[in-house]
Amino acid sequence: MAIQLFTPTFRVDECLEEIRECLEKGWTGLGFKTVEFENKWKEYTGLPNAHFLNSATVGLSLALKILKMEYKWEDGDEVITTPLTFVSTNHAIMYENLQPVFADVDEYLCLDPRDVEKKITSKTRAIMFVGLGGNTGRYMEIVELCEKYNLKLILDAAHMAGTRLNGIIPGKEADVVVYSFQAVKNLPTADSGMICFKESELDELCRKLTWLGINKDTYARANDKGAYKWKYDVEYVGYKYHGNSIMAAIGLVQLKYLDQDNAYRRQLAEWYNQNFKEYHSKIKPVFVAENCESSRHLYVIAVDNRDELLLALNESGIYPGVHYRDNTDYSMYNYAHGTCPNSHNISEKIISLPMHLQLTKQDIDFISETVIKYTY
Ligand SMILES: *Cc1c(COP(=O)(O)O)cnc(C)c1O
Repeated sequence: MAIQLFTPTFRVDECLEEIRECLEKGWTGLGFKTVEFENKWKEYTGLPNAHFLNSATVGLSLALKILKMEYKWEDGDEVITTPLTFVSTNHAIMYENLQPVFADVDEYLCLDPRDVEKKITSKTRAIMFVGLGGNTGRYMEIVELCEKYNLKLILDAAHMAGTRLNGIIPGKEADVVVYSFQAVKNLPTADSGMICFKESELDELCRKLTWLGINKDTYARANDKGAYKWKYDVEYVGYKYHGNSIMAAIGLVQLKYLDQDNAYRRQLAEWYNQNFKEYHSKIKPVFVAENCESSRHLYVIAVDNRDELLLALNESGIYPGVHYRDNTDYSMYNYAHGTCPNSHNISEKIISLPMHLQLTKQDIDFISETVIKYTY
């Protein structure tokens, strides 16, 4: 049996029961379960606002759009970001005619505050921090830099559902936090995401923009007793970015198990760590920052023979991944090639080993032995 990098788990009967409620009620769209999921997410994270979206990509785009509108940024203003991420992070900056400025990563594969500080200019408006694999890295130092230089902070928490820092869910310090519930993330639905603004006025604006700029959603209108429910206003050229009740139904079930599931992911990571303990000369696990309880979306190691090892693992029926290729290697971002040497070097060495809830200790041992066999 092949061992895949990600195999999402769904409690099928429970998901179907939640979905059944939507179908029986005849309410699959915006409202109903989306509101319930938003409320549960606020309760779970302790964040003041949460708006359910059809993806994290649109969330990152809206985060920048709304901050740009609110704080009157100009086209070409700079956002400091990481080259070691899924392209959504950086595309979102481009969508809003802002300029991605790449800063290097540290040993946690997250933004290195020392390099970030060097890359701040008079045009810098924000920092985009990615908690890679669920790791918080030096996030709190980035928060301090944002305070010191009066920059906005966007947390791309696509890998961070359930991550805690010093015992609490991080994000209250950021201006916006964006989560992904895409099909193979650690809280999988099929496609959806959540955007959490610090400021309630920005959350309100966001809710208008995710539904074509209309100033009242269907749910609110259906609950409105007045005869003028159809007489909404359109205040902006908004988008069709909001989430729906079927996705929220799955999300509600996933959220119930999130802490339990992440604990098992940490157990898998611990088994890998044990297995590689004697082999750090050639197999270097990326460790989790101090005081971080990671969601463990990823388990990443660095090896010198990455490409050969990937092929050898495939031949043994193991299908790992790479998170990520240095984004400045892509033609879209190669204007910044050479600006982040550490990211570049590490991106040639990293492998994400299989990490999902259907793996057993035996699977981890088999994968580890195979990695060791082909590295030594
Ligand atoms: C997956 C991912 C996204 C995009 O999430 P979608 O929900 O698929 O749009 C953004 N940033 C990072 C770091 C990701 O891994």
